[in-house]
Amino acid sequence: MSLRGKVAIVTGSTSGIGLGIARALAAEGATLMINGFGEPAAIQAIRQELAAAHGIDVLHHGADMSKPADIADMVRTCEAEFGAVHILVNNAGIQYTATIEDFPPERWDSVIAINLSAAFHAMQAAIPAMKRAKWGRIINIASAHGLVASAQKAAYVAAKHGIVGLTKVAGIELANTGITCNAICPGWVLTPLVQKQIDARAEREGRSVEDMKTALLSEKQPMLDFSTPEQIGALSVFLSSQSAKTITGTTVSIDGGWTAQ
Ligand code: NAD
Repeated sequence: MSLRGKVAIVTGSTSGIGLGIARALAAEGATLMINGFGEPAAIQAIRQELAAAHGIDVLHHGADMSKPADIADMVRTCEAEFGAVHILVNNAGIQYTATIEDFPPERWDSVIAINLSAAFHAMQAAIPAMKRAKWGRIINIASAHGLVASAQKAAYVAAKHGIVGLTKVAGIELANTGITCNAICPGWVLTPLVQKQIDARAEREGRSVEDMKTALLSEKQPMLDFSTPEQIGALSVFLSSQSAKTITGTTVSIDGGWTAQ
């Protein structure tokens, strides 16, 4: 258990990729603060599952990532309860698709707030604790859309390119502090966020959900296979390890060849 004694916050970890990352960090013995929306009973079940399987402490904080005061409270609570914040995974994210002309400004604001500004606020709150520990790992979950664009995803692509830029700045600023900051750029991962897009397209185009999965992959990824939350969890464990101590300010793609084109 390579992360025994380390304390991790994973935002948006009640579902999808964030839950996969939380599970992988838990399996390495990290103490966890999970975050995200969901039914209280379902969140309690996740806490109990992680704590029982790995003998770790797990708390949930319900911070709304669009609210800077909530984010500050989440980081403060983690420090108060667990005495430290060593690993911060900025994962919470939402999607909204429309052309620029039709994009509702309030949707633009919420995508930018949750997918980009939340990472800035969480980093600002957590870096002092990491500096005190002289050790830290910041992992920003960007996307292939942090490196290249697609139509109808103006806010998402802007936020993901922004978080890649934020990652580079943090890598430089924190270079000699024991803290690294990197961005993971997944291609398609079959989570509720993507399932919604598949279902909407299947309905719109009158095709089956299975057809739409194949269409989605073949439009973007040479490798016609979804990445999984478990694989992204394993990559997060590696970026949290001592072996990754000189990897900073960069992006790691896990995208089946999407951005090689
Ligand atoms: P998901 O919808 O399964 O999970 C999103 C999580 O974020 C949930 O736990 C949800 O409760 C939480 N969340 C949403 N809004 C929140 C808010 N305001 N405050 C707090 N928590 C909030 O999505 P996912 O696919 O697992 O996406 C996770 C991250 O991975 C996102 O940043 C997404 O952009 C990124 N990503 C996903 C894919 C993919 O194909 N699924 C690809 C590249 C990047």
